[in-house]
Amino acid sequence: AGGGGGPAPDSGVQVVVRIRPPCRVEEEDDARAPDLCVRKTATNSVAIQGQDFTFDAVADEVSTQEDIFKLVGLPLVENCLSGFNSSIFAYGQTGSGKTYTMWGPLSALSEDSTCSERGLTPRVFEQLFSRIKEIYNEQITDLLDPSPKSLQIREDVRTACVYVESLTKELVFTTKDVTQLLVKGLSNRRTGATSANADSSRSHCVFTCVIKSESKNLEDGSNSTRTSRINLVDLAGSERQKLTHAFGDRLKEAGNINRSLSQLGNLINILAEISVSGKQRHVPYRDSKLTFLLQESLGGNAKLAMICAVSPSQSCKSETLSTLRFAQRAK
Ligand code: ADP
Ligand code: MG
Repeated sequence: AGGGGGPAPDSGVQVVVRIRPPCRVEEEDDARAPDLCVRKTATNSVAIQGQDFTFDAVADEVSTQEDIFKLVGLPLVENCLSGFNSSIFAYGQTGSGKTYTMWGPLSALSEDSTCSERGLTPRVFEQLFSRIKEIYNEQITDLLDPSPKSLQIREDVRTACVYVESLTKELVFTTKDVTQLLVKGLSNRRTGATSANADSSRSHCVFTCVIKSESKNLEDGSNSTRTSRINLVDLAGSERQKLTHAFGDRLKEAGNINRSLSQLGNLINILAEISVSGKQRHVPYRDSKLTFLLQESLGGNAKLAMICAVSPSQSCKSETLSTLRFAQRAK
């Protein structure tokens, strides 16, 4: 598959596991049952309950937001600037550190742009703005316009592009423009102003940036334009959605979340297989709205990174095991 000039990016999916620091309550409990807690055993492996898992890298409680950016964000920005699509997904149970990793605390976004706690997204944009002159930002949820409207995913038959109809688009010039949009979107997400389902444990949050870069060939004076996308995705909580006390719309929603996460897992698994074997296979993008929406930026030479966030605590061990198995399958 083609996809612009420049060197082909590394194949496969980069899978990074991040273990967040324990909170105080967890610390006391975990001291009593250390074997039930997940721990980093090497730069790229973890152990829990006598089982070992190996990934591309493991970040633990001493890893900083900057470490994560250097590990995952920087290569993706470079990949994007070479004309390839890039996506970063944060997967994990509610409370494991997905939002902290992708955006960072709201206070770190709004107050001080150099706050060390700012997450991947502001850092990605700082890097982009230091590398390119013009950038278009497209927010793929309705979080920038909280007025109720039903956003449809449409496909342009002519160009085979998938897009969200009547979605807010903003042109941005600086990192500050981006973080202001992000703060606005995240506040709308938090207050649930957009819909009753905006609860972050029950919705996927996608931030897509479309980058158009123009370059001039100094030899013949011709111009060329490259377009690439970067998707920053904070997924819904991966904990098994409880079906017991749910009914009606809530039951349907719980089923949809479980399904869309497992379909994303399948899809990543297939893409990883294709990139290793080079064989063509049917890729089931249309199975869920999330993968349908992202389809044009996932296939071909796209670069994918999955950050699987886990809690260090023994009280979360079964969810942690299930996240590690998901992460392993993505390799
Ligand atoms: P999720 O989005 O997966 O539900 P959050 O990102 O909201 O989880 O994290 C839960 C809590 O843990 C938050 O208070 C967050 O600030 C804190 N936290 C998560 N990861 C880290 C980390 N690496 N360092 C410090 N605090 C963290
Ligand atoms: Mg969250």
